[in-house]
Amino acid sequence: MHEHHVINPATEELVATVPAATPQDVDAAVRRAAGAQRGWAALAPGDRARHLRRFADAVDTHLEELAQLEVREAGHPVGNARWEAGNARDLLEYAAGGAERLTGAQIPVAGGLNVTFHEPLGVVAVIAPWNFPMPIAAWGLAPALAAGNAVLLKPAETTPLTALRLAELALEAGLPEGLFQVLPGAGPVAGDALVEHPGVAKVVFTGSTAVGKQIMAKCAAGVKRVTLELGGKSPNIVFADADVERAAAAAPGSFLDNTGQDCCARSRILVQRSVYDRFMELLEPAVTSFTVGDPADPATQMGPLISAAHRERVRSYVPETAPAAIRGEAPAGKGFWYPATVLEGRPEDRTAVEEIFGPVAVVIPFEDEAEAVRIANATDYGLSGSVWTRDVSRAVRVSRAVTAGNLSVNSHSSVRYWTPFGGFGQSGLGRELGPGALAAFTETKNVFIAVDSPAESP
Ligand code: NAD
Repeated sequence: MHEHHVINPATEELVATVPAATPQDVDAAVRRAAGAQRGWAALAPGDRARHLRRFADAVDTHLEELAQLEVREAGHPVGNARWEAGNARDLLEYAAGGAERLTGAQIPVAGGLNVTFHEPLGVVAVIAPWNFPMPIAAWGLAPALAAGNAVLLKPAETTPLTALRLAELALEAGLPEGLFQVLPGAGPVAGDALVEHPGVAKVVFTGSTAVGKQIMAKCAAGVKRVTLELGGKSPNIVFADADVERAAAAAPGSFLDNTGQDCCARSRILVQRSVYDRFMELLEPAVTSFTVGDPADPATQMGPLISAAHRERVRSYVPETAPAAIRGEAPAGKGFWYPATVLEGRPEDRTAVEEIFGPVAVVIPFEDEAEAVRIANATDYGLSGSVWTRDVSRAVRVSRAVTAGNLSVNSHSSVRYWTPFGGFGQSGLGRELGPGALAAFTETKNVFIAVDSPAESP
């Protein structure tokens, strides 16, 4: 039997061994899901909502257990892990209300009544990455279930444990057997089997742009619906008229949180030349005081990278011995540690163009607003970005000019479960979260009902 070893990235200890799903397992799961989906879609919206609220309550009751699992399998600092489990709970709550508000339209037409319905798609596959295992699973799972679909979740090879526990909690909360199943396994085996399966109506994928492109091409064969959340190389643009102290104090969190393994990481810091030196002076202590260490310690801000292989990938961009403008500390010994690293560079440097997915940022000077926007947009990606300025007009102009899906002004906040999230360009396709989250898991059906004219009175 194939299986995956789940390794604690902070200690390199074996946490668990999990069987890997085969294409036969995937086929059986799709059949079970299709059966469960029919009954689920037939439930009254209020009953679906009640089930999902109970599921949210179960997640809330087990929040600490889920967070501790995340600490062990992903090396996330426990404060972050608690937020992640809470995000899964909030998504379920939010989506539950959506089941009750999935209203259609009544469109005025001649000769009858015209209405739209949002029909569920059927069986939806959610292929999740390892960087935010619980939130990203929930972003697909919660609205898909609320809209009347069944969900098959394939977690990343390195982080299957929280997903498996969520599926148990769903059953304990009374969700029908087969409606939400977790299929841990290899991407090219279990993931591919889901993408290829004719019984899967939609694939929600979060991960690398390379795999996302392959999945999209395979979905084309069956005109399968697809949502893609891919990589990013997001700019953090600091203008001279900003509160430079605040901008520098906030910058480390924007590329060190989750050890930089964040598709929204602001890994290109563009700084107006007149405040460049001041910004770098302020950035240094902010980066070196970012607390790195044991993820189980609530004071820890940054843990290790996910795996030895991923650390090698990060090192292939910047070895720890390479010159850097700022470099933080990292624990020695066991664990996939890598220090916070700030480089000074040019927009065309490989480190400023490609997604490193580690705690590395490149600082680039610019002269004026036009140049800032030009550098910010000189990327195939377009996921998020930040603009630091006290000039409201500039904030609006630059936010509109940057070709990315999620901008923040004087802040690095991009993700709220009640606002839409997704990328421009090669950062993705479609949107998740927000008021439209359920609609992405439905087909719009239009029905015309002829209404006879009243019979002529004698
Ligand atoms: P990946 O794209 O290989 O894996 C993401 C998910 O897709 C996993 O569940 C994986 O098993 C699955 N998968 C892989 N190959 C597949 C296939 N052929 N068919 C179906 N499913 C498949 O990403 P990774 O190896 O985990 O990370 C590599 C790089 O991707 C990272 O360094 C980073 O640049 C990027 N990444 C981005 C995000 C994001 O949030 N946008 C998340 C993870 C990784």
